[in-house]
This record gives sequence, C-alpha cells and structure tokens, in this order.
Amino acid sequence: MSTTKFDPQQSMANARHEFGEHGGVNMSIEASTTFTVMTPDLMPEIFAGQLGPNDGGCFLYGRHFNPTVFVLGRMVAAMEGAEAGYGTASGLSAISAVIMQLCGGGGKVVSSNTLYGGTYALLDEYLPKNCNIITTFVDIQDLEAVENAMQDGVKVLYTETLSNPTLRTADISALAKIAKKYNATFVVDNTFTPMIFSPIQQGADVVIHSATKFLSGASDVIAGVICCSKSFIEELMDLHLGSLMLLGPTMDPIVAFRLSLRLPHLAARMKEHACRAMFMAKKLEDFGQDVVYPGLESHPDYELFSQARNDEFGYGGLFTVDMKTAERASKLMGLLQNEQQFGFIAVSLGYFDTLMSCSGASTSSEMSENAQETAGISPGLVRFSIGLTGSIEERWNQMKTAIEQCS
Ligand SMILES: *Cc1c(COP(=O)(O)O)cnc(C)c1O
Repeated sequence: MSTTKFDPQQSMANARHEFGEHGGVNMSIEASTTFTVMTPDLMPEIFAGQLGPNDGGCFLYGRHFNPTVFVLGRMVAAMEGAEAGYGTASGLSAISAVIMQLCGGGGKVVSSNTLYGGTYALLDEYLPKNCNIITTFVDIQDLEAVENAMQDGVKVLYTETLSNPTLRTADISALAKIAKKYNATFVVDNTFTPMIFSPIQQGADVVIHSATKFLSGASDVIAGVICCSKSFIEELMDLHLGSLMLLGPTMDPIVAFRLSLRLPHLAARMKEHACRAMFMAKKLEDFGQDVVYPGLESHPDYELFSQARNDEFGYGGLFTVDMKTAERASKLMGLLQNEQQFGFIAVSLGYFDTLMSCSGASTSSEMSENAQETAGISPGLVRFSIGLTGSIEERWNQMKTAIEQCS
C-alpha cells in the first residue's frame, strides 16, 4: 500500500501505451494461434516456461499467452494496481479458474452469501458436487461471523465489493486482515465498481472482473479478467497444472482488442453512470420510494463506501427500488420499457442504456426462496443499471410517470 493516493485512471493510462504495427494509435491484433520459434533450440526453453512474455517475449500457442490479450490484461491490472492480469472467456470462467487453482481437490471456501447467481451456483452446487470444494456462506457484513467461519484449511475468502442485488459494501480492508490471519487468499469480484474501488490497494490478493459489464459498456462481448501477482498468473497458465491453460477459457484476441478501445473512456463512463444514478436515486427517495443506493446518506454503508472509494468516481451506476410484490415490479418494468422507452427489461449491467430486472426472478433465481430472504432480496426488488443516454430530466419524468401509474 502506497502513501500517495492511488489513481486508477492515471495508472491505466500509463499502461496502455502500445503502438500498432505501422505506428497506429491503436495496438495491432495478434490473431495467430501459433507462433514461430526463430531457432529450433529455443523450443524446449519456451515449453519449460523460461521465455514467456514476462521473460524474453516468446509466445507459444493461442491458449497460452497471446500478445493482444496480454496488453489488455496489463491495462486492467494497472487500473487495479495489480502486478499482473490476464483475460478470460467470461467473468465466470475467471472465477472458476481462480477457485479451482486455489482450492485443488477438497479446499474450503468462505464466501459472502449474497453473490451473482452464477457464482452462487458454482460455489453452492457445482464445486461441491464435482470437485469436493466446500463453501461456507456468511453475511459478509458480519466480520465476527466471517472470522468464525475461517478455520484451518480455508483456502479462499470470497466476496463482491458491492453485493448483488442488495448493494451492501464489503469492508475490504477488514476482510483482507482476516484472510491474512488465516493464510487464506482473498478474492474480490469488482465487476460492479471498476475505478470506484481498488481492492488490491486495500489488501485483496486477487481481483476478478466480468468485463461483460462496465468494462465493455456496450453489452456486446462476454469476457473476464483476473488481476493478481505475476506468479499467480504464471501458475494459472502452467502447462501441467494451470486452470487457464488446461480448462482453456481463452479470451479471443479480437475481444481483447475491442475491450482495449473501451477502457480509455471507462473512467468517464463510470462518472456519468454514477452522476445519473445519484440524481435518480435522490428523486426517487424524495418521491417516497423504497430506493437503495450507496450514495444516499440513508444507505447503511454510506460511510464505509465513502471512506473506501476513489473519490472522483461517485457511488456506481446501480440502485434498486423495492416495489414489494413481483406483480408491481413487473408492472413498473413493463411501463418503463413499453410506454416510456426508459430502458430495457434485461439482466446484466454496465450498458450505455438502462437495464432493469427483477432480481428474485432472474439473476438471483439460482438462490432458494430461503436463501433470498436471508440475503434480503425482496420479491418486488427491481435492480436498475442506469444508462448514459437521453436527458436526465426527461428520464426522471419517465420514471415518475410510470411509478404514478403503479400506485
Ligand atoms: C455478470 C457477472 C459475473 C459473471 O460474468 P460473465 O461475464 O457473465 O461470465 C460475475 N460476477 C458478477 C458480479 C457479475 O455481474
């Protein structure tokens, strides 16, 4: 941890610089799946991992390191202040590769009980059944409960910076201390809050992104990124024991290239998403709605979020409105999409237009009704990922009209 304040925007700008083949302002795409070995005697060294992109710049095969994906990984790693990073085929493949690598056969995980549905299913059902990797789920806000669940043999402490869809903030610094005390690797999914939070600066060991969301910003690619130490990336790419190399969730270099053109304006987008979400959340609160947004002083983690965030980027682009019943939630979303053209009824987030979904029936449907209740997910909870398009005043008029028609 440094004494000067970490600036994710500047850090990423410093790492981007890479001329294209003909001096182009954008890097070139390396689309080859295999690479020429200049002299035959180099082949054994390359296979022994002694001449990789980190030490000598030799590339081997497209499922192993690719130069374009390598640069993309470097950019996201710089944003997180991590030593290294690498792209994957999806956010979930980044998560599963990391957990499998760290937990081997039979390792234990302690995880937040409020997670992206796919991650929850992976930890709750798939990994115990197929890999004997057992997860204890805890309320990540309750540090005492976290500490009680950590015990000898727990290999991974896992959380999302901002829980989905309840938008509670994890106390990354405090959790990092607990993980360290028990020799566990602290893995943080920072998908909801790129630029806003820098978990590695606060003690996390591994940061994961679903690049499908804000990093892309256009809902046009499925992708993930892992940020961590150089040695852990090497481990993940090991020819004999690496989850990235052997399970093979390879990022396409064309996807890496496309993402590399989105990241330079990620900071500007995050600020605008946050500014609009704050405007809308305040209006909704004043209008008497049950709105949850970490930027509202009424939010239970307002202080924690305010202290932990990188100042310039606001409080994120997501808020929820509790319509109490699934019927009222559906009515509101139907009006907003089909009468007001306010946004789309769709899962996912980070798109330039507004996306809205009823969490209990969609992205959290992998959780049982009981698990949803424990996690505080009401059946009428509508999650909004606020877009960047249109006039902000007109957007509020659309929302207000739709809400009035629901009462
Ligand atoms: C979408 C999402 C994932 C999974 O990412 P994919 O790119 O869809 O595989 C993981 N975590 C969070 C928080 C997400 O929103």
